[in-house]
Amino acid sequence: MQRKKILVNGASTVFYFDAPFSQIDKLVEQNNQFFLTDEAVFAAHTKLFRNRQTIVIPAGEEQKTMSAAEAIIAALLEKNADRSSVLIGVGGGVICDIAGFVAGIFMRGIAFILFPTTLLAMCDAAVGGKNGVNIGGLKNMAGTIKQPDNILYHYAFLKTLPTFQWQMGFAEVIKHACIQSAAMFRTLQLHSLAFYRKDFASLTALIQKNVQLKINVVQRDEQEKGERKILNFGHSLAHALERSHNIAHGQAVAVGMVAAAIISQWKLGFNRAAEVIQLVEKYKLPPMMEFDVDEVVNLIQSDKKSHNGAIDYILLAGVGKPQIVAVSFAELRDFLNRIAAL
Ligand code: NAD
Ligand code: ZN
Repeated sequence: MQRKKILVNGASTVFYFDAPFSQIDKLVEQNNQFFLTDEAVFAAHTKLFRNRQTIVIPAGEEQKTMSAAEAIIAALLEKNADRSSVLIGVGGGVICDIAGFVAGIFMRGIAFILFPTTLLAMCDAAVGGKNGVNIGGLKNMAGTIKQPDNILYHYAFLKTLPTFQWQMGFAEVIKHACIQSAAMFRTLQLHSLAFYRKDFASLTALIQKNVQLKINVVQRDEQEKGERKILNFGHSLAHALERSHNIAHGQAVAVGMVAAAIISQWKLGFNRAAEVIQLVEKYKLPPMMEFDVDEVVNLIQSDKKSHNGAIDYILLAGVGKPQIVAVSFAELRDFLNRIAAL
């Protein structure tokens, strides 16, 4: 097990990589532990929760709502949780996002710890302190920024992760490579999903590298005043596609990154869009999909990142060289129409 303490804006998060599940008992007294998980994780790892106070919610993005958060708070009260309780989220990005949000508002804030159980949550969602819920289908419209006290990487969770979810996780890994690491981009080109599922040492090194890349950005700009925006590479289009079509976050991000890479080629002379497409396909993610451009642009306009008829689009001047560029909606509509015609 490897312990790593990281400071963000004065708040410290201690990461434990390759931790046994029982590590939690060394960190929090048993009667202060309140677990939050979803039905799928609970079913696949029931034994871990034996004799532990656990709130189980249905699985899925539809659970990321205010009413789910309220129900969790009611369940905490029913179990006599108080200000010294610690909420422990065990799950994918949905559970991590709700756990952080509930911990931020329950009795005006209690401590929280995460056990990310998907590749996506290990590499991205659990890290950085952003949390929240969707409102009326609009992604992450209410939430807080609150760093977890600990993040525990218990890699055995990945043994039950379905293939589809592995693919979704690689969308965010490819994102981190595109915006921050030409070296990781190259490594991903050389390997494959099957390789990482078999090679534990390479997988855990990849996860830690992703955590480090994300933390570097969050440490410099926790509140997303500037640089943190680069983590939204591919995401403006992705969030719109998630609303207009019934597709998973990772699939939508893949399509969003490819579109951003092509727009980068037109706007900034980025010359590796073809490699981005190949990488997305290598990790079994969709590079493109059919969508109604006008509908999607309208949805992007309601994104919380849009302002004054334009949106801060994350483009690439090179692999690992992101640029934040204001793109007007008229221009975006034109770009997306050109991409649809390719
Ligand atoms: P998820 O939490 O819905 O998990 C995907 C599915 O896998 C679920 O059905 C879940 O029950 C199941 N699952 C989880 N772990 C499992 C395991 N070990 N074995 C078997 N099944 C398992 O989704 P996700 O892809 O992990 O995360 C997506 C969410 O994360 C989105 O809501 C997205 O907005 C959010 N996100 C947040 C941040 C952030 O910085 N806060 C960053 C990226 C993504
Ligand atoms: Zn994402």
